[in-house]
Amino acid sequence: MKTLQAVRGMNDILPADSALWQYLERSVADLLGRYGYQQVRMPIVESTELFKRSIGEVTDIVEKEMYTFADRNGDSLTLRPEGTAGCVRAMLEHGLTGGGVSQKVWYAGPMFRHERPQKGRYRQFNQIGVETFNIAGPDIDAELIILTWRLWQQLGLREAVTLELNSLGSSEDRARYRADLVDYLRARFDQLDEDSQRRLDSNPLRVLDSKNPQTQALLQDAPKLADYLNEQAVAHFQGLRALLDAAGVPYVLNPRLVRGLDYYGLTVFEWTTDRLGAQGTVCAGGRYDGLVEQLGGKPTPAVGFAMGIERLLLLIETLGKVPAELANQVDVYLVTLGPGAVLAGFRLAESLRDVLPDLRLVVHCGGGSFKSQFKKADKSGARFALILGEDEALAEQVGLKPLRTDGEQKNIAWQDVPAQLKQLL
Ligand code: ATP
Ligand code: MG
Repeated sequence: MKTLQAVRGMNDILPADSALWQYLERSVADLLGRYGYQQVRMPIVESTELFKRSIGEVTDIVEKEMYTFADRNGDSLTLRPEGTAGCVRAMLEHGLTGGGVSQKVWYAGPMFRHERPQKGRYRQFNQIGVETFNIAGPDIDAELIILTWRLWQQLGLREAVTLELNSLGSSEDRARYRADLVDYLRARFDQLDEDSQRRLDSNPLRVLDSKNPQTQALLQDAPKLADYLNEQAVAHFQGLRALLDAAGVPYVLNPRLVRGLDYYGLTVFEWTTDRLGAQGTVCAGGRYDGLVEQLGGKPTPAVGFAMGIERLLLLIETLGKVPAELANQVDVYLVTLGPGAVLAGFRLAESLRDVLPDLRLVVHCGGGSFKSQFKKADKSGARFALILGEDEALAEQVGLKPLRTDGEQKNIAWQDVPAQLKQLL
């Protein structure tokens, strides 16, 4: 029989790793809560049309990376490759951005793209995304960047990340630029890599993003988008830079930064690191003022970003920034010997949970010898063992033994256990 395996590029998150996931997810959720952002939860599956109309027909994602299938009614559905489209769809469907009401929301969850799996690049991966609506000025662009900067500090990643910043201007600016860029590149068509040749017709700005060294060299003397920005776009970008300067957030200008999705304009940014090899972008976003209207709503300024959870976790691990306390998931392990002690053990454990609600207490289940229970107590990482035999149970006493330091077991009365543990933990 064929052994069953997870789908290529899709990972299980196992018990040994989940504490780190929870730590990261909690850190982000808490931070966003403090900035006044509220969570939204969208379906993982959306109509294929949504992604075609938002991300763009000639992007890598829509052209070749989507998990698209017909459901039993014959409707074309797609596993979401990113969160912005579904978030905008939800905002529109529920009228949350109508009347110019501003929204600041975030979401977390798996995204799906049929890419070549490698370190930091998977077919199911997780993002935390943040989106804001109906705030037009550079202040909100700045806030999004500043809050991620704070997050990097909290996670101990600041030294390892760089903020890359660019402005894509208005769609008119890009159209004028595109025409000149295409002229420039067409005159050098034979020197372009194959992907760039193909993109020249469909999505020429993406050529800027090419990883091919020869193409990059060719782009040195190409027209620069920055020279095509209208006055308003320039003012927006300067406003953003002034705010980042004021907040002390360092950045580098990257005139080639264009992003892989069609809906961006004005501000685009990426947080990159040189510690993860080729998969160096850990967080990316920008302004997408045209998208809500493109999906059938009223013109609505919008800006957001998404961070890649797997890449951030890799970075945290690479830099040795996993908090030491994560190794320790259990405070106390209760060992019981004998049928009377098992009964008493549950009584004791539940009474401890009543008075110490944060106590991480594992009650041994499954019987076994004293020795084997002790092995499990040790392996659990618990700092203390509580030991209950038949005699202690009858006397409402229990043995308390430190597992991580030398120290004798001492017998104490049940009613003294909470106070003792409070002192010790
Ligand atoms: P890349 O250039 O690395 O392919 P992208 O521009 O396609 O990234 P976005 O769509 O902007 O990525 O997604 C935001 C973030 O999600 C990325 O910066 C990255 O951290 C993460 N991400 C994107 N694709 C993957 C993937 N296949 N596996 C793991 N993380 C991913
Ligand atoms: Mg990509």
